[in-house]
Amino acid sequence: MNVLVTGGAGYIGSHTVRLLQSMGKNVVVYDNLSTGHRDAVKQGTFVKGDIFDSELLEDTIKRYSIDSVVHFAAFSLVGESMEKPEKYYKNNVMGTLNLLDVMIKNDVKKMVFSSTAAVYGEPERIPITEDISKNPTNIYGKTKLIMENAMEDYSKILGLKYIALRYFNACGADEGGDIGEDHNPESHLIPLVLKTCLGIRDSIKIFGEDYPTEDGTCVRDYIHVNDLAQAHYLALKALYEGKDSNVYNLGNGNGFSVKEIINSAEKVTGITIKKEVTGRRAGDPAVLIASSEKIAKELGWKPEYTNIEDIIATAWKWHKNHPEGYK
Ligand code: UDP
Repeated sequence: MNVLVTGGAGYIGSHTVRLLQSMGKNVVVYDNLSTGHRDAVKQGTFVKGDIFDSELLEDTIKRYSIDSVVHFAAFSLVGESMEKPEKYYKNNVMGTLNLLDVMIKNDVKKMVFSSTAAVYGEPERIPITEDISKNPTNIYGKTKLIMENAMEDYSKILGLKYIALRYFNACGADEGGDIGEDHNPESHLIPLVLKTCLGIRDSIKIFGEDYPTEDGTCVRDYIHVNDLAQAHYLALKALYEGKDSNVYNLGNGNGFSVKEIINSAEKVTGITIKKEVTGRRAGDPAVLIASSEKIAKELGWKPEYTNIEDIIATAWKWHKNHPEGYK
């Protein structure tokens, strides 16, 4: 396996690169470092490049005899996507179409694609199975759904084999404590809570406590980044074994409210933090909990991290050692 990992210098990408490399695969990270970090790439070959640079993509594919792609390179902030739609349509849709053009031209027809629970929008049923209707409530989710649909057509007509993985809430960090989550600006709940524990932020804002949930705050399914990485490995393996294109959810199957996450973080760190209830954040569904039965049954995936405090403890180790991220 000679795998090109676009966006391999990002959070989920860097954890996947580590795992693939540890399984003996040859990994080439391709990242323009617009949001990724060179220091997050501890394994594999690194090429600084943009997914719009067809020439460099083609050169890289040829030079390293690439036979599959794991495609993370994308913008992924829900809030930003609602303010700058053009940025998201351009990079996530046009950029991915360009990557697919170069792949197909060079006869690379295996792709594992980063998708998201945001494709479902306000789900009609919980837990969410892959077949329910997709009505994304934000532009980020729309761009991912557009690409899933395009890949379905490429698969039927052009022979592309792809597996799209719909992540729920990625969190945690590798036990090594040397790679982890570092977004700028940070918008995700767990890193923001832990930065508040470190005193880097004054308080944590709770976006709404009038949702139809037990404590009124939003419920999400938090999944450890190394469990996500494992799913990418299994998806690639399936494609090399000749399995058909497919789409899978990746979650733990348990929901935690914003308040429960804050309480767990206080338990893990032993630090009490200041909370502030504010209004709802636009585009936030009340409850998102995955059914991951399909990937469990078909690819044998099983999350190793099921306890939320264990998951937060791995993130805490990273944040404590790297209060300023990779800087
Ligand atoms: N959230 C919050 N305060 C924050 C950041 C997030 O209350 O400072 C909430 C957010 O509204 C959502 C949940 O925490 O219900 C998880 O948000 P995150 O941005 O981590 O992930 P998302 O679910 O948007 O992918």
